[in-house]
Amino acid sequence: MNNINLKNIFPTEGKPGLMPVLFVGHGSPMNAIEENEFVLSWRTLGKSMPVPKAILCISAHWETRGTQVTAMAKPATIHDFGGFPPELYKVIYPAPGSPELAKDIKKTLTNSEIGLNENWGLDHGAWSVIRNLFPEANVPVIEMSLDYAKSPQDHYELAKELSYLRTNGVLILGSGNIVHNLGMLAWDRNESDFGFEWALKANEILKNLVINGNHKELIDYQRLGREVQLAVPTPDHYLPLLYSLALKEENESIKIFNDKAVMGSLTMTSFRIG
Ligand code: ZN
Repeated sequence: MNNINLKNIFPTEGKPGLMPVLFVGHGSPMNAIEENEFVLSWRTLGKSMPVPKAILCISAHWETRGTQVTAMAKPATIHDFGGFPPELYKVIYPAPGSPELAKDIKKTLTNSEIGLNENWGLDHGAWSVIRNLFPEANVPVIEMSLDYAKSPQDHYELAKELSYLRTNGVLILGSGNIVHNLGMLAWDRNESDFGFEWALKANEILKNLVINGNHKELIDYQRLGREVQLAVPTPDHYLPLLYSLALKEENESIKIFNDKAVMGSLTMTSFRIG
């Protein structure tokens, strides 16, 4: 635990409580600039919680060898996608970074080697959501990468080591999608509530395991049958969910939101812990 250190870094009045933890289904990068029911709920969510001293985002869109955290003072806005309208490429989310927080995580996580990264920034998994949560860009944001060599169990255990941040005013945000199969997207079904039967079933299975606290089954998601295998063809968008879930304390509530499918093979299902 490094409470004293972090209090020095992010001075606050009064006693800091336990910050909520989020898992947000980010969906299309267009959610960064579109008006729809999903982004409206992100904005409401941002207003409903205490302003964090910093945000740590585990994004589906940053996979590396070994675990890294961004450690630059001014993270760039990364437009890590292709084929979208020009206005999306003009979006800049100018939130500061926090080299101090990055160093603190590196020092505190004794079971894992954490690299300090100066080259990444904020990918759209982070900024498309966070610019709706905190439009003023006045909360420092850092990202933690997904080590593609780690097993789901390894990721879950690494996440548990981040729990000290919750008592120090840091909001932890997992950003991915529970059901995410881009190869099977129904491009002609753009309305916001259309899911293939297998996608809806996988979403129900995974969501109910989340609600009921069946973490072991969620870690072993590859054993959950055909629908879940189709929903999670690669681990990148699923693993952020395990990070958020691992941070749930006993008896804490979980609130599901944006529980809808889009374009057949994607669900926006999200949750808030605490
Ligand atoms: Zn994504």
